[in-house]
Amino acid sequence: MLKPSEKTKDLKQSGIRAASIECAKIGGINLGQGVCDLPIPENIKREAAAAIEANKSLYSPCEGILELRQKIANKLAGFNNIKADPVTQILVTHGSTGAFVSAVNTLFNPGDEVILFEPFYGYHKNILALTNVNVSTVPLHPKDFSFDVKDIKKVITARTKGIIICTPCNPCGKVFSKEELLTIGKIAQEHNLYVITDEIYEYITYPGFEHISFASLENFAERTITISGFSKTYNMTGWRLGYVAGPADIIAKMALVQDLIYVCPVTPLQHAVIAAFDIADDYYQKMRDKYLVKRDLVVKTLRDIGCELAVPQGAYYIMADVSQLGFADDEQAASTILAKAKVATVPGRAFYADPAKGKNIIRLCYALEEDKIALAMQQLKAAKI
Ligand code: PLP
Repeated sequence: MLKPSEKTKDLKQSGIRAASIECAKIGGINLGQGVCDLPIPENIKREAAAAIEANKSLYSPCEGILELRQKIANKLAGFNNIKADPVTQILVTHGSTGAFVSAVNTLFNPGDEVILFEPFYGYHKNILALTNVNVSTVPLHPKDFSFDVKDIKKVITARTKGIIICTPCNPCGKVFSKEELLTIGKIAQEHNLYVITDEIYEYITYPGFEHISFASLENFAERTITISGFSKTYNMTGWRLGYVAGPADIIAKMALVQDLIYVCPVTPLQHAVIAAFDIADDYYQKMRDKYLVKRDLVVKTLRDIGCELAVPQGAYYIMADVSQLGFADDEQAASTILAKAKVATVPGRAFYADPAKGKNIIRLCYALEEDKIALAMQQLKAAKI
């Protein structure tokens, strides 16, 4: 009997995919996976068709086409307050996931340790594991998403090489404040750590919360890999386009890594997303306004049915504590809700190193069109769970 490699031994289908498959079987509403069904802006679609028609179909430079990197540099300077040279400090990547894979392979050795805030985005943890990097976790307090500095210091060892920040955060909706980022930066400096920031939800913040890029503060840019992408802001999760900015020597290595893994990002779609940077500012405000309506509806419904939760500050996910609803655990909660309300959610264990910590938690994603979210909430209430 042939066996796959040791490092794939613990890989299992994620709870998120499993929830989607079960949901599709019964024709339910999928609030499990982070999928948005909103339209892609028309100008970007037109440019995609034009790029394919014009046969822009060969490999691009592995770093991505220069015109797009220049647009990204302008956006980073204007929106994120990050200065990055488009030639040496920016890569277009195969989604922000591609950027994370290249970053992890470039920065860390097998046996190194990297810190994740918990609850975490499962891909971060699993990609680190696949690279034989050990993960230690720092809890975010469920009531207000705060963390204790001593919990970070406690997990730092001689092998700690990095820390991951996901802001706004999937799965809990935390937006890291300037003070928190400064605190993390100080620790990163003291212990000479790399910082990888996943900022893919940077445009989705709610009133009272502002997205701040870690690399825009102090001199943190010299140790920071800033990752973002087009998937969430322009509703194109299947286009697989993201980007990364960082110190030139690291970016040069990451380019070599991504060349080996996937050669280059999808060429015609790189040409198309240049048009994203022509979109007027009110696009982003309208997007935030729409997500705010959905967030508030989901918060109210979940509270009405007896869940406890902290109100998301950004992104389009919410974690709900279902302790009061009488389920044995998170898996039973998600499967009962799917069966009775025909709404898919994700069992909380997907977001914790120790599954027991997610025992009373489910995560919902409210990225779908408003009428679907409203229907899902009606079904949740009517199911009298
Ligand atoms: N990072 C976070 C925090 C996410 O939630 C997701 C998708 O759900 C991704 C990255 C994936 O992004 P991309 O489609 O750019 O690979």
